[in-house]
Amino acid sequence: MRINMSGLWYSGAAVLEEKKSKSILHPFSVKGYSGLAINPYQGCSHRCAYCYATYEWSPEFYDRIYAKSNADEVLDRQLAIWNSDTIDTVMVASATDAYQPAELRYGLTRKCVQVLQKYNVPYCVFTKSATIIERDLELHRKYRHNCFLIWSITTVDERKRRVIEPGTPPASRLFETIKKFTDAGVCCGVNVDPIMPLVTDADEDLEAIVKACSEAGLNHVFGAMLRLRADIWERIKIALRLLGNADGVERYKQFYGFQEPLEAGYVSAKKWYADQVINRLESLVKIYGMSCEFPDFLGPRRIDRSHTGQTSLHNFIHVG
Ligand code: SF4
Repeated sequence: MRINMSGLWYSGAAVLEEKKSKSILHPFSVKGYSGLAINPYQGCSHRCAYCYATYEWSPEFYDRIYAKSNADEVLDRQLAIWNSDTIDTVMVASATDAYQPAELRYGLTRKCVQVLQKYNVPYCVFTKSATIIERDLELHRKYRHNCFLIWSITTVDERKRRVIEPGTPPASRLFETIKKFTDAGVCCGVNVDPIMPLVTDADEDLEAIVKACSEAGLNHVFGAMLRLRADIWERIKIALRLLGNADGVERYKQFYGFQEPLEAGYVSAKKWYADQVINRLESLVKIYGMSCEFPDFLGPRRIDRSHTGQTSLHNFIHVG
């Protein structure tokens, strides 16, 4: 991982570039959950210290953002020849924020969502966006029977947010946006992920987020503990230092049970500690009358190819 002269994991301003993609709709698998995902951008200017996606892309993940300028055309082509009559929920996006600032210039997420809607594909969006996703409120509202929008919010403490996610809007701004979507009848959730030991895991941190979720009209709130990986751990150490948590490094080693240097792969928090935090989150969510689950209306749908003039695979088999 590159740490720059300022001792940070990112530079001042991200550079935007365009590239062409051959394929945009991909299967993915995380911790036993598998599905489909699209990523209209590569890289992310939100610059979260804990970002899991950095490893898979490039060392310039935060500083050089690639816009896949033909993303919507490629997605359209892939769906037109999709090898089944049905399709499961598509994640928009799995390894970047689809509504990061680059979307203002390129509008690729909007175009891809329009393609998904054209083919009757269910989708869920993961984002930390406020103003930019609000531009698409009407687009998602008219498809609300078939989509779920999830904001990843780790803290409502602005001092902590500026250190651990320097490129995201304040949580208070995100909750204003969420309220607009819930008022419009769009099914929304908050993913409190990752919960960072010593930074966002205290009862008062968790309750402040859950309370804000309830006030924003949400029904679905869930979360997960931070997982560590060598490059993430280097950034977390910087964040702990900036937050003035002098003994944090040693305590992380206790919570996760590792010695430096961290070996390849992920390290999860010890079960006794993770259970304690997640149980606390889930009990707060229930106290505030919300659910820790995804909504149950999402699921596989029949692809609508009527506008393409193509015979479905199903029809083809039976006619043939
Ligand atoms: S918003 Fe997501 S993809 Fe972007 S830096 Fe943060 S964690 Fe990584």
